[in-house]
Amino acid sequence: MPYQQAPPALANQYEDDRVLRSYLARVCPRETLSEIEPSLFEMGRLAGAELYELQLADRLNEPRLTQWDAWGNRIDKIEVTPLWQLAERIAAEHGVVATAYEGKHGSLSRVHQCALAYLFTPSTDIYSCPLAMTDGAAQTLIASGNQELIERAVPHLTTREPSEFWTAGQWMTELTGGSDVGSSETIAKQEPGDAAGQFRLYGRKWFTSAIASQIALTLARPEGNPLGSRGLALFYMETRDDHGRPHNIEINRLKDKLGTRKVPTAELTLNGTPARLVMGATDGVRNITPLLNITRLWNGISAVSLMRRGLALAFDYATKRVAFGSTLSEKALHVDTLMGLQAEAEAAFQLAFYVAELTGRHEAGEPDEHDAWLLRVLTPVMKLITAKQAVSVASEVLEAFGGAGYVEDTGLPVLLRDSQVLPIWEGTTNVLALDTLRAIGATQSIAPLLATVDRLFESLHDANLIALSRVALAALNHAENWLRDAQAADRSLLEAGARRFALTLGRAIELALLIRHAQWSQDHEQDRQATNSARRFAQSAVDLIVDHS
Ligand SMILES: Cc1cc2nc3c(=O)[nH]c(=O)nc-3n(C[C@H](O)[C@H](O)[C@H](O)COP(=O)(O)OP(=O)(O)OC[C@H]3O[C@@H](n4cnc5c(N)ncnc54)[C@H](O)[C@@H]3O)c2cc1C
Repeated sequence: MPYQQAPPALANQYEDDRVLRSYLARVCPRETLSEIEPSLFEMGRLAGAELYELQLADRLNEPRLTQWDAWGNRIDKIEVTPLWQLAERIAAEHGVVATAYEGKHGSLSRVHQCALAYLFTPSTDIYSCPLAMTDGAAQTLIASGNQELIERAVPHLTTREPSEFWTAGQWMTELTGGSDVGSSETIAKQEPGDAAGQFRLYGRKWFTSAIASQIALTLARPEGNPLGSRGLALFYMETRDDHGRPHNIEINRLKDKLGTRKVPTAELTLNGTPARLVMGATDGVRNITPLLNITRLWNGISAVSLMRRGLALAFDYATKRVAFGSTLSEKALHVDTLMGLQAEAEAAFQLAFYVAELTGRHEAGEPDEHDAWLLRVLTPVMKLITAKQAVSVASEVLEAFGGAGYVEDTGLPVLLRDSQVLPIWEGTTNVLALDTLRAIGATQSIAPLLATVDRLFESLHDANLIALSRVALAALNHAENWLRDAQAADRSLLEAGARRFALTLGRAIELALLIRHAQWSQDHEQDRQATNSARRFAQSAVDLIVDHS
């Protein structure tokens, strides 16, 4: 018989996920866990079976823009792929957004929702993108206190009923900048007869993902407002008119992108698009912050979920691929390579879900000042570090398949292409590193983070883990000293080191969280796998800071 290669396969993606299950067992009271687990088993089943199969079958389909009908009418119709159509229904029915708003489990509702998103994301071709913005738009509208808009949109954004479900876009980036949005050129005009708060927007938006969404939150400068970010206002718009056509919006083209190719990302022109002020006629960038915090959380959850998918496939393949007389799973070096990636993914997981916990506590009105500081600082840190890890893990995952990892119809290369967007959108690594410095702001010190890590280590008693904890503490102390010296020195030194500083914070807190979990897992599950991951992670580069002299 000639050699036949069995493809990698996926089991139930919840049942099979030691890291997720062990984490939930630690953070959830037993009763909560038994209430949420059926939904996770079901999503894990879908993700490993129907959705994954459809994803492979749907590989070559892409969204389509039809600008004109046969009779010369401008229609700008967007058709999304079959998997995206199904994903919308499944996301609504399974509450991938709604769970966070139903609040059945208090602050843990956010953790439950993130667990659903983590299982759903890798099998649905980045449908997480519109869901993230939908969740962020709901948060932003709720935070705005604009009762009319809350009543109009939030029930649609947070429903489980597919026919009622709306998704939202976030239209910020213009040709002038995605990072530097303060230079946006879109103008908001009030015309005779327009009601108070009602404007028409004129301008070009350069990256607008999930263009098929029913609503969008966007930024524009009311006529007469000053230049810069303060002069921008936050607007709410419904993207279609009564005939279902883009409402005074011309979709100029869809972007031809490296990855996220199922996400319709458009360049468009606003030609007097009706829009309503969300809260005040200035400070739009500040007012849209709740949306960015949520999309950054989703970015981190997506990063860990894509790492998990790559590794689930790679570990399975290792049991099926034979080289030099035995399976790859019997080659010490191949296993060592995969375990190194597993350590990265596991550390990233702990941080992404820790930020989900902090977010949940914030939403439930529970956080003290300390938690609020942590959430503000760790959101950009978590987003930037997990995105970088996702790209590097995806690249190694492809290599773990040899030539097959480079071949499109295995469905593997898309993991790398899709991961590569994670460090770019929702704030690039540098932009978020600078945001981390801003977040630390008045404190001028990471003392609250050091205090948190001390608390995480309080119940350590395994000698190996205690030794590893010193690596995290040393990195954080180095970061604290560097920050103090850089603040006293030239501003450009502080800026130049911001990325290494933020990456170091990210890796150190990941290690600390992983060590804390490893101790729990030893004590409650008699399992040393997380300990092994912590040991590997501690021996990778944690401290990336370069001193000034
Ligand atoms: C697939 C995709 C979908 C997207 N969808 C949307 C969407 O739906 N809505 C939306 O609003 N935007 C969207 N974007 C845009 C995205 O958010 C921006 O591209 C991103 O924020 C970066 O902005 P920019 O392209 O202007 O890059 P620039 O800001 O020009 O950045 C170029 C480089 O300069 C660095 N840099 C910038 N400022 C500084 C600084 N002060 N110090 C040091 N380094 C700096 C950056 O880190 C980067 O490496 C999407 C982008 C992609 C790729």
